[in-house]
Amino acid sequence: MTRLPPAAIDTFRGLFSGPMFQPADAGYHEARQIWNAMIDRKPALIVQCHSAEDVVAAVNFGRDQSMLISVKGGGHNIAGNAVCDDGLMIDLSPMRDVEVDVVKQRAFVGPGCTLAHFDAAAQAHGLATPLGINSTTGVAGLTLGGGFGWLSRKFGMTVDNLVSVDMVTADGRQTRASATENPDLFWGTRGGGGNFGIVTRFEFQLHPVGPELLSGLIVFPFNQAKSVLTQFARFTETMPDELSVWLVIRHAPPLPFLPDSVHGEPIIALAICYAGDPEIGEELIAPLRSFGKAHGEHIGVQPYVNWQQAFDPLLTNGARN
Ligand SMILES: Cc1cc2nc3c(=O)[nH]c(=O)nc-3n(C[C@H](O)[C@H](O)[C@H](O)COP(=O)(O)OP(=O)(O)OC[C@H]3O[C@@H](n4cnc5c(N)ncnc54)[C@H](O)[C@@H]3O)c2cc1C
Repeated sequence: MTRLPPAAIDTFRGLFSGPMFQPADAGYHEARQIWNAMIDRKPALIVQCHSAEDVVAAVNFGRDQSMLISVKGGGHNIAGNAVCDDGLMIDLSPMRDVEVDVVKQRAFVGPGCTLAHFDAAAQAHGLATPLGINSTTGVAGLTLGGGFGWLSRKFGMTVDNLVSVDMVTADGRQTRASATENPDLFWGTRGGGGNFGIVTRFEFQLHPVGPELLSGLIVFPFNQAKSVLTQFARFTETMPDELSVWLVIRHAPPLPFLPDSVHGEPIIALAICYAGDPEIGEELIAPLRSFGKAHGEHIGVQPYVNWQQAFDPLLTNGARN
């Protein structure tokens, strides 16, 4: 393990407002955990940022010490890119501010926000932007990788709704990128991953959504997969943009609306979300029920944020999710 010069760490501490963890410190092992519990990497130093100035100090320190740097937003990336061995882990998870401008329908979102933080703040005003299906995912990594979810057919990818980013580049400079400011950098952040700098604030376009939407699941036995798949393919040809239907093949989780005998059995399920008037949605989804003889269904009008969290227990992997 790299031994960092104590004098350099002391100087860094003077410029940094958040906690820092070295391997012998209490809290170090908790701080290095990410969603994928199979990843077991041990950074030489973990710093938890509270501001863009903290990010600048961390980038400058890592660069001056020639350290490998990893950046953690929500920590959900399966490959575990948020944490590195023997380097500097810059953890943005304390930066969870969400500011909503209701008049302009814009949101300003901190890089430590999960989808749950962002959706809760925007849905308080009946607004949302397309994000993923699992509320514990980080807004930062999802956006920088492109991002898609239940609202994408209607409102586009997450990056289609990204208006600007404030970021810290590798030379420790704070800059902004948008369609008009540093447009090349903005192009790179819209799906290019996190390699162009560390984003300290995202600005998103919002849209009126819900707050109650028709959503839910229809679960068929796997031995009906051919029929379900064939009809699903035909159904999607004329499906309106407000309607998203995802097809899921897996072993049945112990969902309360499924008979006990089905739990653990292979299934093919339709996951449905209608981002419009629920009554129209009900009419549109009616034909889905005739794709086969279902084990069961659970569909209703519910808050969009509840639907966004419905998959969390089914997609939980790590010690922290
Ligand atoms: C169960 C599950 C469900 C998912 N569902 C969806 C989905 O519905 N739709 C979808 O689009 N994706 C989905 N994903 C993929 C998810 O969007 C990516 O894994 C994403 O990278 C997670 O972002 P994060 O901030 O949580 O991850 P992290 O692991 O913290 O970061 C991911 C990457 O982004 C970099 N990064 C993070 N923050 C910043 C920042 N502020 N500046 C620069 N770089 C940064 C990190 O260094 C790392 O390389 C899902 C993943 C899982 C595990």
